[in-house]
Amino acid sequence: MDIHEYQAKAILAEYGLPIAQGGLAYSPEQAAYRTREIGGDKWVVKAQVHSGGRGKAGGVKICADEHEVWEAADEMLGKRLVTQQTGPKGKMISRLYVEEATSITAEFYLSLVLDRCSERIMIVASAAGGMDIEEVAKNNPQAIVNISVEPAVGIQKFQAREIAFALGLKAKQVNQAVTVIEACYRAFRDLDATMVEINPLVVTEDGRLVALDAKMAFDDNALFRRQQISELRDKSQEDPLEMKAADRGLSYIGLDGNIGCIINGAGLAMATMDMIKDAGGEPANFLDIGGGASPERVAKAFNLVLADENIEAILVNIFAGINRCDWVAEGIVQAMNKFEIKIPVIVRLSGTNVEEGRKIIAESGAELIIAESLDEAASKSVAAVAGGGA
Ligand code: GDP
Ligand code: MN
Repeated sequence: MDIHEYQAKAILAEYGLPIAQGGLAYSPEQAAYRTREIGGDKWVVKAQVHSGGRGKAGGVKICADEHEVWEAADEMLGKRLVTQQTGPKGKMISRLYVEEATSITAEFYLSLVLDRCSERIMIVASAAGGMDIEEVAKNNPQAIVNISVEPAVGIQKFQAREIAFALGLKAKQVNQAVTVIEACYRAFRDLDATMVEINPLVVTEDGRLVALDAKMAFDDNALFRRQQISELRDKSQEDPLEMKAADRGLSYIGLDGNIGCIINGAGLAMATMDMIKDAGGEPANFLDIGGGASPERVAKAFNLVLADENIEAILVNIFAGINRCDWVAEGIVQAMNKFEIKIPVIVRLSGTNVEEGRKIIAESGAELIIAESLDEAASKSVAAVAGGGA
């Protein structure tokens, strides 16, 4: 689960991360009021959306007076911000964070991520801050330093100092850097985070280290024991179909193609998507309905896949082990009637109770395209889409 910048800053500040003074705003009036509350003579208005790259997309504006803050807020609120990371639909801006602007002399990149290979928290830092770290990793990998943390002892001060030296920080900032890194590490570990990213971490004109941006992501599987984190969830920032699926116990990932997939098992779902591609088609989604799928669950899966407006055909591929083909078949027939499906539906059933399943389909009179093998199912789906409908 992702959270907003202002939420991440509030959490990390409690652990000792230095941040600029700021406040949340839901209206231009509130944004203008924040400038008086915060004080100073320059402010930054920042769109709170679950995405990086806001600066380049017009979601970060530096303002010289209250009026400019009002205007910037008015401009951003209620719009969808399209960044390099959001996709073309963008994300709705319904909250702003107004901060006192900081005068910057240097920008750094700092992040903590879970390194699955070493099963440890990895600290990644670079003096090439404020920029796309992916770009730096590609064109200038020696500008990035990594340190892996031994979980039994946690981050050591000497390790944090090593990072500070590698970034070329001056003596008086080295201790501040240690504070910053320790704060991020403790927050990461205590709260079941999967990522903490400070980009940029800056040196101000008066020599202080300040986090100008902060991102945190958390392990969904640990949210049950992190009540204060799950409360920070903002569903308006999540993909509505993926969210709907998760709430119904289905794993769904939306893709760009036109062949909807209803499949049991993540491995089979991946293989089916590959087969569709191999046959010259494009899958519209990844969907694993899981084992032991009841007819209702299959119908729910149809409902979900049909909500994608790009769908031109649906491929149901079930290899029933724990599942039962007769139940799945019943679910398909129910869905065909309930949703009055007009697009071609290709069905391949195999495994437990396959004969009963086929019988249910045959007797229902539903217009389904039956396939015997995965290969055949994929090519029939692609042909159905190319043929322009049933
Ligand atoms: P992102 O684009 O979504 O990563 O948003 P950031 O919060 O990182 O802001 C983008 C860029 O705006 C930063 O890299 C900074 O260069 C700049 N910026 C943000 N806040 C300030 C500020 O207080 N002062 C100055 N001078 N620049 C800022
Ligand atoms: Mn940033």
